[in-house]
Amino acid sequence: MKKVVIIGAGPGGLAAGLMLIKQGYDVTIFEKDDRVGGRSKKITLGDYHFDMGPTFLMYVDVLRTVFKRSGFDLDQELSLIKLDPLYRLVYPKHTLEIRQDPHDNVNAFDDLHPGLGDAYLKWMDDQHQKFGAIKSILEKPFPNIFHLFRKDVLKAAPYAHPFQSVYKMLSAYSKDPHFIHSLSFQAKYLGMASYQAPSIFTILPFLEHAGGLYHVKGGLNQINETMAKLFISCGGRLNLSTPVKEVVVEHQTVKSVITEKGDEIDTDLCIMNADFAYGMTSLFNPKHLKKYTPEKLQKKKYSVSTWMLYLGIHQMLDFPHHEIIFSKDYDAYLHTLMDGKKTDDLSIYVHNPSRIDETLAPQGKSSLYILVPVPNMHHVTDWDAHNMQMKDMVLNMIKEHHGIDLEPLIEEEMIYTPHDWQEKEHIYRGAVFNLAHGLDQMLFLRPHNRFEEFKNLYLVGGGTHPGSGLPTIYQSALIAFDLIQKHKK
Ligand SMILES: Cc1cc2nc3c(=O)[nH]c(=O)nc-3n(C[C@H](O)[C@H](O)[C@H](O)COP(=O)(O)OP(=O)(O)OC[C@H]3O[C@@H](n4cnc5c(N)ncnc54)[C@H](O)[C@@H]3O)c2cc1C
Repeated sequence: MKKVVIIGAGPGGLAAGLMLIKQGYDVTIFEKDDRVGGRSKKITLGDYHFDMGPTFLMYVDVLRTVFKRSGFDLDQELSLIKLDPLYRLVYPKHTLEIRQDPHDNVNAFDDLHPGLGDAYLKWMDDQHQKFGAIKSILEKPFPNIFHLFRKDVLKAAPYAHPFQSVYKMLSAYSKDPHFIHSLSFQAKYLGMASYQAPSIFTILPFLEHAGGLYHVKGGLNQINETMAKLFISCGGRLNLSTPVKEVVVEHQTVKSVITEKGDEIDTDLCIMNADFAYGMTSLFNPKHLKKYTPEKLQKKKYSVSTWMLYLGIHQMLDFPHHEIIFSKDYDAYLHTLMDGKKTDDLSIYVHNPSRIDETLAPQGKSSLYILVPVPNMHHVTDWDAHNMQMKDMVLNMIKEHHGIDLEPLIEEEMIYTPHDWQEKEHIYRGAVFNLAHGLDQMLFLRPHNRFEEFKNLYLVGGGTHPGSGLPTIYQSALIAFDLIQKHKK
């Protein structure tokens, strides 16, 4: 039985582990934390429960496939709740609610400006075709430049417009800023701005609008908890609170891992789920690395980070499940953020899941999650000095918009800064959405799922192909799983 060691029990590591254990591999996962999930783990403050990171699941098919390949049925293991509306978008002078039914969205866009509904329908139609053409690119590995000449890649080429940004592509349908922002803010899921993100990423809003968004009862962290439970039930070994200190490499082959407890575990194959740039700089002796030495990694481009506020609120809040309150000047805000500067004109995401999920807060109370995209640690390092100012700004925005002062209602509170992401979660520069997703760091130019520098190291998670976000992370696990199966032969 081939031995596999997985470093990290985040979504990528757990998905790979579950599929491999079912195929008869001898799988051991080492996780530094005392619970699974990584950036998407469960946080509990008193009687309130929160997702640390991901709050919505889109394009569920990929996770369904992971469960199916492991011999399980996703819908039997977890309770998925389809959201309607998907989210509310709050602009200084307009509010837009995106719903499951595209006709509602046509009306909502037309209410903003007559004719926008038609632009929306045309856009949806084009994205449908585009997604059909590029889907397989995301499902297969990209080990070298020659894969650009694959049949599926050539077929997708006319839809890809590689040198056009999401923003530019949308403005061909309408110049209305609300139209553009409503269908491009999703670039921030990649930690980028719409004017930087390659136009291929308009598939993100398309997948939301066409396939819907899901909440998981108990929080998205339940996906990890369930995968971990199933992994153990199939005979997998999950070692919590066991950080890996070093990966031992000989002749470009991983031989063993050494834990911080001092144990050395031999392995045939290794899968790294820990943040790619952190892992390369902290777990490997640089003498074994060529393309991804610490010096070269410093020069790469990274996503933005997030400043987080988790609040236990002594009142049932009537806020939507997902809401984005946009800054007064959103274009200027994006430029300031991408230039690595702080701004007072914030754009915030507010998540109020306890309204539809009673497991997350005591009756009559709310678990509120607020995410603010901010520069990563490369640009701003003194986050602790700004916490009170950030909290005031965020609570003021909520007060202005919802007419409620949350401060006296706070029972539990936790702030998480880019510094915390870096130090506590082992995320390079606190860039929570990993290496940026520009063309220069995508496909064969992103670290490969079968890592190009070692014979038996595989990568899963947001730092490898196809990229950050749960569906792509699960896809990375599927790709790594297939590659390992081939490696066996
Ligand atoms: C605030 C936020 C919101 C997000 N929202 C969404 C969303 O709504 N929808 C969506 O699809 N995506 C979202 N994402 C993006 C992405 O889905 C998550 O970040 C996801 O958890 C990343 O998974 P991963 O497997 O790449 O890495 P991680 O979750 O970081 O997992 C890596 C694991 O490795 C462990 N580890 C690190 N070092 C070691 C070591 N030395 N030894 C052992 N273990 C180690 C870590 O503890 C962790 O458990 C969000 C991300 C963030 C940060």
